[in-house]
Amino acid sequence: MKIVRTANAGVWIELDGMSLLLDGVANQVYPYIATPMTMKEALEASLPDVLAFTHTHQDHYDAEYARFYEETMHRPVVGPVGVNHLQVGRLKIEAVSTRHIGKAEVAHFSFAISGEKQIWFMGDASPVMLREMAAFPKPDVLFVPYAYALTASAWRKTKETGAGKIVLLHLPKRQDDAEGLWDAVMEIAGQETCLCIPEIGQEIEIE
Ligand SMILES: [Zn+2]
Repeated sequence: MKIVRTANAGVWIELDGMSLLLDGVANQVYPYIATPMTMKEALEASLPDVLAFTHTHQDHYDAEYARFYEETMHRPVVGPVGVNHLQVGRLKIEAVSTRHIGKAEVAHFSFAISGEKQIWFMGDASPVMLREMAAFPKPDVLFVPYAYALTASAWRKTKETGAGKIVLLHLPKRQDDAEGLWDAVMEIAGQETCLCIPEIGQEIEIE
């Protein structure tokens, strides 16, 4: 399984010979950066087998890309702008309704993906929403925003999923981190070998 971070809180995944793009093209909402232009062009030239967006906040979503995808691929997007279930080859993608962190009033879904590996992709769901995922097999790889490693209790819930690999997304660049998110996350979870914080463009291979 291969992962490339392509956006603030999004990734390109290769699994079971298929490609998935999850919140993988997004716009800038400072301090969170947009998908770099060269990367966006590459993602337009090579469309994924599965495209999914957790919600329509600009730091997770690009409406133009979603439209272009549906017109070109004749396949629906997964999430609030599309369908709740999709099967492509042996891959199954289920969108689970979950509550956004804080007070945001927006339709929001997290994804449970089963193939040769189990994946949970939380989007901006509140950490308590992990319990909504419990009906699915335990994840090999869990994708979460920084809030899941910001407090000891959130990190405990995150670890209780039993995920072998926890990929932390949604952190700003360190030089734009006025709120000190990096320091807080490092203090809570910095020593954990299961934790992975990829940079945009970074590729990770998971055995
Ligand atoms: Zn959001």
